[in-house]
Amino acid sequence: MKIVINGIHANLRFSSAHMIPKHQFCGGIHGHSYHVDVVVEGERSGKFGFVVDFKEVKGIVRQICSKLDHKVLLPLKSDEIEFKNLEGPIEFSIGLKEYKLPPEDCCLLPLHSTSAEDLAEFFAEELYNILKESDDEITSVQVCVNEGIGQGAYFVKEDD
Ligand SMILES: [Zn+2]
Repeated sequence: MKIVINGIHANLRFSSAHMIPKHQFCGGIHGHSYHVDVVVEGERSGKFGFVVDFKEVKGIVRQICSKLDHKVLLPLKSDEIEFKNLEGPIEFSIGLKEYKLPPEDCCLLPLHSTSAEDLAEFFAEELYNILKESDDEITSVQVCVNEGIGQGAYFVKEDD
C-alpha cells in the first residue's frame, strides 16, 4: 500500500536560488518556490496498521526543506563549478564568472547539479535512509521536486 503527501497542501516547500552552469537560460542565479510531493510504499504494520505515520514523513521532509530554504544551492560535485574556498566566504567560479557568497547564505550539497532531477534524488535518498532506520516494512520512497507549479522531477528509491 502507498501513502501520498501533496507538498502544496501539506506545506512541504522551500524557496531557494540556484543556477545550472552554462545552461543558456538557467546559467544565471535565479530562484524557485519548490514544493515536494512524496509517496511511501510498504506493508501496513504496527498498532494502527499504518504504512508509515504521515506526521513522521512530513517532519523529515520539512527538515530537509528547511536546510535548503532561503539559501543558494551549490552542488559540490559539479564538473562546471570550481570551488576555491569553502572555509569562510564561499568562493567559486564557473568559466569566467567569479562568485563570493557568505556561508550562511549557501547550502552546499553532495550533488553533481541542483536540477529538479538531482534534488528529487537527494530528497528520496535522505528520506528513504531515515525511514528505513525505524521501519523495515517500507519498500520504496518516491519524491517529486516541483520547480513551481506544473513542472517537477520524480525519483523512485526502492529496496535493492
Ligand atoms: Zn532553475
